[in-house]
Amino acid sequence: MSFENVKVVVTGGAKGIGRACVEAFMEGGAKVCILDIDQAGQEFADSLGNDTFFIHCDVSKEDEVKTAFRKIEKKIGAVEVLVNNAGIQSYSTVTETTEEEWDLIMNVNLKSAFLCSKYAIPMMLEKKKGCVINVASVQSFISQKNVAPYTTSKTALLGLTRSIAVDYAPNIRSVAVCPGTVDTPMLRNSIQESPNPDEVLEECNEMHLVKRIGSSNEVAELITYLSSDKASFITGQAIRIDGGLGITIAGSKRD
Ligand code: NAD
Repeated sequence: MSFENVKVVVTGGAKGIGRACVEAFMEGGAKVCILDIDQAGQEFADSLGNDTFFIHCDVSKEDEVKTAFRKIEKKIGAVEVLVNNAGIQSYSTVTETTEEEWDLIMNVNLKSAFLCSKYAIPMMLEKKKGCVINVASVQSFISQKNVAPYTTSKTALLGLTRSIAVDYAPNIRSVAVCPGTVDTPMLRNSIQESPNPDEVLEECNEMHLVKRIGSSNEVAELITYLSSDKASFITGQAIRIDGGLGITIAGSKRD
């Protein structure tokens, strides 16, 4: 996929799915800015050469996002592709969730996408071209137990995606990408917290129809495709990339 000279911002690009996106856009010839709170993003950007750079930015805070997008415009010009990927996982029910935890999940997983879009879209409007990809989850449609704030934030991202698509058509598209379980530091950290990580990983493999979890590269392939002109007739949609997770009915006696 060619992204020759296209200006791209990837939030949460230091690790996992975001990191794979940065590499994929770079391979296509894009200029890529990584926004992340993990300083590892600096070393990663340096390793990729002059067309990638890192800005330390907590994307849940408006003042930091505003400053970051000013710097980006100054350095590379108008942003054409924004990948709102930064996110955090948490495990709790409504009655267990503190107000602080609720706010944190909503701010990092949802408000960040609103804020980055708010500062990227005016540049896209100027260029009369742009694409906003929001990384949601299969949990935008189906939910496991104990993920009330997470699943709520990921479901709301679909509404944000639709609103951007409707409000800024025809020149700006927006698409939500909804992964099943993907092998990233987020997943590895979360299964390490369980008493038997190997068993949990096996369960994760089993619950997908393809009998394995996905890779960051597979998700990055979809994100780059959706951001490209090849996907110019796709907007406002939520696209699942989930190895068939969630399309079967459990407990069927007939094989
Ligand atoms: P990860 O934890 O491996 O990487 C997330 C990155 O986001 C990290 O580099 C982290 O530092 C950064 N980040 C976190 N909070 C931030 C903030 N406030 N400001 C800037 N950067 C911040 O996670 P991942 O698994 O690669 O997940 C990426 C996205 O995909 C998330 O939105 C996640 O919810 C979603 N997702 C992941 C899976 C999965 O199984 N891994 C499944 C569905 C959806």
